[in-house]
Amino acid sequence: MRWGIDWGGTKIELAGIDDTGAVVYRKRMPTPRNDYPGCVTLVADLVREAETLTGEAGTVGLGIPGTVSPYTGLTKNSNSVWMNGMPLKDDLELALSRPVRIANDANCFAVSEAHDGAGAGANVVVGLIIGTGCGAGVVINGRPLTGANGIGGEFGHLPLAPMNRDEYPGPKCWCGRFGCHEVFVSGTGFALDYQRRSGEKAFLDVQTLLKRNDAVARETMDVYCDRLARAIATIVNTVDPDVIVLGGGMSNIDALYERLPDLVVRYAFGGEFHTPIVRNVHGDSSGVRGAAWLWPLGDG
Ligand SMILES: [Zn+2]
Repeated sequence: MRWGIDWGGTKIELAGIDDTGAVVYRKRMPTPRNDYPGCVTLVADLVREAETLTGEAGTVGLGIPGTVSPYTGLTKNSNSVWMNGMPLKDDLELALSRPVRIANDANCFAVSEAHDGAGAGANVVVGLIIGTGCGAGVVINGRPLTGANGIGGEFGHLPLAPMNRDEYPGPKCWCGRFGCHEVFVSGTGFALDYQRRSGEKAFLDVQTLLKRNDAVARETMDVYCDRLARAIATIVNTVDPDVIVLGGGMSNIDALYERLPDLVVRYAFGGEFHTPIVRNVHGDSSGVRGAAWLWPLGDG
């Protein structure tokens, strides 16, 4: 059995995945916010309870909204700020008496889609989550590219390039810099851009804006597609993956899959772009699925 855990800002979910990839057990609990020891205890209890109820022991993989520094072993870059600076891997391994693999949640998304999702069969898969924020992960032959600093594939916090004069320097990102992909291509970025163009005071979600289909919504969408194409061209120029899988709320917009290929080719080096851009298969389940597949078949 593979236990996969997705530590999110509002819920912590555990799933048990068998060798065929079927989810045979699932439980979710509210995240004990601002309570690091409470979170560690909850994760360990979820695993122990699942093993008691199913009678099956297993490997443990965990996806977090952050990463573990390869140098300090401490968690960093998480918007669940109470886990930052903590020895999460050590604490969980102590609590569960076994090795625990931890990866960024966007890496888990990419692992899941590479294993038996929209990127199955491809050697190099990029998973790009465009939701509330923008996260990404690179998977090579089934394994996430963690990187020497634990930030492999953090395309969300590269600046949009090339940036137009009227875009420079871009809105401020939570990471402290200006003009990150995240502030332009996340769903939040789309809604804020609509607000700026329309003068609308209320913050409306993307689906509401697209249903309106007014001139400003269409203009916002045109600009959004062009920006996302530039972001994808940057990914292609650095990694040149075999497939790009989109996740998050914005990935449900059908028009993206029709419009992006013709736009990316304008920005990709050499003017050639044949890479499939596809919608994810596993949706929200990719968090737990990818965490479980941090232990691939034949591993552990
Ligand atoms: Zn940023």
